[in-house]
Amino acid sequence: MPAETVPVTGWGRTAPTAARLIRPRTYEEAARAVRECGARGGIARGLGRAYGDAAQNAGGAVLDMTGLDRVHAIDADGGTVLCDAGVSLHRLMEVLLPLGWFVPVTPGTRYVTVGGAVGADIHGKNHHVSGSFSRHVLSLELLTADGRVRTVVPGTPLFEATAGGMGLTGVILTATIRLQPVETSLMSVDTERANDLDDLMARLADTDHRYRYSVAWIDLLARGAATGRAVLTRGDHAPLDALPRNARARGEPLSFRTSRLPAAPSFVPEGLLSRTTVGLFNELWYRKAPRARMGRLQRIPAFFHPLDGVPHWNRVYGRGGFVQYQFVVGHGREDALRRIVRRISERRCPSFLAVLKRFGEADPGWLSFPVPGWTLALDIPASLPGLGGFLDELDEEVVGAGGRVYLAKDSRLRPELLAAMYPRLDDFRALRAALDPRGVFVSDLARRLHL
Ligand SMILES: Cc1cc2nc3c(=O)[nH]c(=O)nc-3n(C[C@H](O)[C@H](O)[C@H](O)COP(=O)(O)OP(=O)(O)OC[C@H]3O[C@@H](n4cnc5c(N)ncnc54)[C@H](O)[C@@H]3O)c2cc1C
Repeated sequence: MPAETVPVTGWGRTAPTAARLIRPRTYEEAARAVRECGARGGIARGLGRAYGDAAQNAGGAVLDMTGLDRVHAIDADGGTVLCDAGVSLHRLMEVLLPLGWFVPVTPGTRYVTVGGAVGADIHGKNHHVSGSFSRHVLSLELLTADGRVRTVVPGTPLFEATAGGMGLTGVILTATIRLQPVETSLMSVDTERANDLDDLMARLADTDHRYRYSVAWIDLLARGAATGRAVLTRGDHAPLDALPRNARARGEPLSFRTSRLPAAPSFVPEGLLSRTTVGLFNELWYRKAPRARMGRLQRIPAFFHPLDGVPHWNRVYGRGGFVQYQFVVGHGREDALRRIVRRISERRCPSFLAVLKRFGEADPGWLSFPVPGWTLALDIPASLPGLGGFLDELDEEVVGAGGRVYLAKDSRLRPELLAAMYPRLDDFRALRAALDPRGVFVSDLARRLHL
């Protein structure tokens, strides 16, 4: 199997490290790669959309699982799919939508693999209704450090360690997933503006239960009375009778069309993303949004994955890359959320639209991120002076409020805070020690945080 030593980074393009990149094309090749990965171990990688260092392994092996990308079986009556872990959600949408099925959970990009979706136990705009991705997984085939392939089902310790386990229990080879039925490939979307953070939280708390999908795009550069102003977009899959009678959509109600703009340039001058330019963008975007508009029909890519229209958009942050900071604090800790939002606004981070969402019930994964409460995600250029110290202070606020940061986005958290954020960490470590005593599966994230 060819293996090339190359620099590997996450989507934020911070901290590249060199690793032997291996692309297995069969399960046997994957097993051989694990057997032969050497003293620095190995880690599975999907489409590299984790922002930080979760799918990197300095000096070791990285198994690019996108070469194993077969859809094995679809039960079009029962609504399940069995596929390889290297299949992307984009591919699943292409295959499943014409049959009237949708993935149960999609993040803000459809260019993630099923393995990455389970590894990070991803959440979508429907977390308050549907929970995270692994809640819809019926079984997994997991290649473990001893070379065995185990069938892993929900309700078992190995499943709960693997869902959100960041690839550290083994390499997921296949997954069987329960799907969401849809009548059309369009979304019916309500949009409204919120004047400030309290207005926003009140709207989300009062009416989120009416919507399957809900998210707020928040302007963190707005200050004073406008701090936390936002645009809410919420909706559901449009039923067939919501489509206009004579529209083309009626003829092909389940068609899945995507369009892509030209890629972001590979060189972007430092300083392009100043507070002024980003502030201007946020201002225009807020003013352009309708105060209230109900029932607009939108295509799936526009509603769920607006950034996917611009390939390599992560380059706009320049050579230094960017950090995505995502945390959650529980219901009742709105005071902490208000303080953090105020601090970010006062710090004037040149951050494009950030995302605020309310999570529903926690998921069973031991290191799964969502807990009931408020989650905020924002991008910040890594070159911002004093960023490390500033985020350390925010971490303290988050921990103080009983919250946590999301490992799939992280590249800089201090390890001593982890146990307070993830109370099942010791169970996770104990299971790993028993399952993988030689520490075959390891990543930069795992080394940095002593996972
Ligand atoms: C624009 C954008 C929007 C996003 N929005 C959201 C969002 O709304 N919600 C959310 O939860 N996340 C979101 N993310 C993060 C993303 O969904 C996760 O990081 C996801 O894990 C990426 O999947 P991937 O296939 O790219 O995996 P990678 O980034 O390659 O890997 C991520 C983790 O999964 C593990 N992994 C990958 N494949 C396997 C496998 N076969 N077996 C075992 N472990 C494996 C890796 O070891 C690593 O720990 C977003 C990312 C981007 C870039």
